[in-house]
Amino acid sequence: MAVPLPDLPGVNYRFTTRADGDLQVGGAPRDLVGRRAALAPGEWTWLRQMHSADVVVVEHPGQHRGSPADAAVTTVTGAVLSVVAADCAPVLLAAPGGLAVIHAGWRGLLAGVVGAAADTLARLGQTPVAAVLGPTIAAHHYEFGEADLAPIAERFGPAVVASTAEGSPALDLPAAVGAAVGELGLELVDIGVCTACSADHWSYRARGDNGRHALVAWLDGP
Ligand SMILES: [Zn+2]
Repeated sequence: MAVPLPDLPGVNYRFTTRADGDLQVGGAPRDLVGRRAALAPGEWTWLRQMHSADVVVVEHPGQHRGSPADAAVTTVTGAVLSVVAADCAPVLLAAPGGLAVIHAGWRGLLAGVVGAAADTLARLGQTPVAAVLGPTIAAHHYEFGEADLAPIAERFGPAVVASTAEGSPALDLPAAVGAAVGELGLELVDIGVCTACSADHWSYRARGDNGRHALVAWLDGP
């Protein structure tokens, strides 16, 4: 990986790769049980992702598994939270005693999913102190219609407007995540992996891949 993962006290997390297996929610359930257990011990929460700003609060391990939402927040130990992606942005917010996992595509960003997750943490008495962006499609591979770019640029600033290697209009999704995280007063740590370029990740846009890698995070146990 281009950038080493920052060490976040109290928070365990990882961005999976193809080598960890397909973690998409609709996959073969028996395979998923084994893959999840190999990655993180404990009860997992996964989401039925809809590109919304909906957030669930996980108050006990495994709660809200399969719920329709695009972010999950917890302050309890033993709860393994996950989101999956194959180009969209998996984002971790870490607080001293809490964390959020976020699935952020452009629709979710416009809907305010990052702010909604941070607000939910705040309601639980937790202020995020770090934000980490996992494997995401980079601007040079994310051709985007100019008309669709306009509202995103209006919301997050002109830095989200980019161009592909071929010179077509493109969305800089990491820049949009950076802007959303910046509104929280945080500087985004981008691990710098483009899903379209990386042979270790899935890309729906670049290759039509059906597999999904994941962001998996849980608080340190007592
Ligand atoms: Zn790329």
